[in-house]
Amino acid sequence: MPWRRTKDPYAVHVSEIMLQQTQVKTVIPYWERWMRELPTIEKLAKAKLDRVLKLWEGLGYYSRARNLHRAAQLIAAEHGGVFPRRFEQILELPGVGRYTAGAIGSIAFGLPMPIVDGNVARVLARYVGIRGDPKNRETNAALWETAERLVKAARAENACGELNEALMELGAMVCLPNQPRCEQCPVRARCFAWKNGKTGELPEMAARVAARERIFRAALILQGEGVWMRRRPEGVVNGGFWELPNGEANGESPEETLAVLFGGKKLRIKRLCDIKHTITRFRMKLEVFEVFSEKPKDCKLLHFKDLTRVPIVNAHRKVLIRIGLVERPK
Ligand code: SF4
Repeated sequence: MPWRRTKDPYAVHVSEIMLQQTQVKTVIPYWERWMRELPTIEKLAKAKLDRVLKLWEGLGYYSRARNLHRAAQLIAAEHGGVFPRRFEQILELPGVGRYTAGAIGSIAFGLPMPIVDGNVARVLARYVGIRGDPKNRETNAALWETAERLVKAARAENACGELNEALMELGAMVCLPNQPRCEQCPVRARCFAWKNGKTGELPEMAARVAARERIFRAALILQGEGVWMRRRPEGVVNGGFWELPNGEANGESPEETLAVLFGGKKLRIKRLCDIKHTITRFRMKLEVFEVFSEKPKDCKLLHFKDLTRVPIVNAHRKVLIRIGLVERPK
């Protein structure tokens, strides 16, 4: 993991925010490109929001990018552009909770602050033998107390950051949810779950709620060297991002869903492709139709060459890649 080679608090901050809802292998190229394009707090603070969102495009959960941007502006305005060193100050940054503040504080500044996220909770529940659902208040408190005890013990060796990094990496690479790699685990000799054959039982997660399916229908309208798109308003999910005009289906025909986008006109359409993706509790299906010779409401004609410059909602960018208007990311 390239961010393990630095103790720069800004670089650690960026990596931790990216890793909040995204897997390590996906984050690596994003983090590397971000650090190339916006290598300092000052550069990020001065960057336009559109550029920041464009660099985040494809990672999802875009409030994380907005918060990073706002955090850099706050550090520039209130801390003279120097990353704050105290835990309480780090915790005040937008989008930074107890886990992220602990990670930045321990790795960059050696603070004895604990971390517990899903991965670390799994490691600790198995290693110490903590019963109960980690989301349950008492179990969660027991996990944080254990993490705190460990990181405080590491302070004697000036290794708070190393301890927390080790917990993160054990969770991400070795102590996996379904098939933990106990044979390769450096702490198995002391691990409760390993010694007692309980790796399949711990942590005691509550059953997941099944994801609900939602179907959206999008209109692809080409005109000359452009495509009609609309910008999502600020304050909603993916606010500020561009998308193909679309609407949610609710049992009606595709023509009826799409007609709403064109003031109720009768349309000539052709099915192009489906894009599927899952967001937390929803399985989304985006059905894409080419619509001929109509201009949609509230849209703007974007030239093909501008499609690589503006931030585009991930599922809609996949449509543009699928039909060859945007290149697949390398
Ligand atoms: S021995 Fe197995 S269960 Fe225990 S911490 Fe290591 S990988 Fe996880």
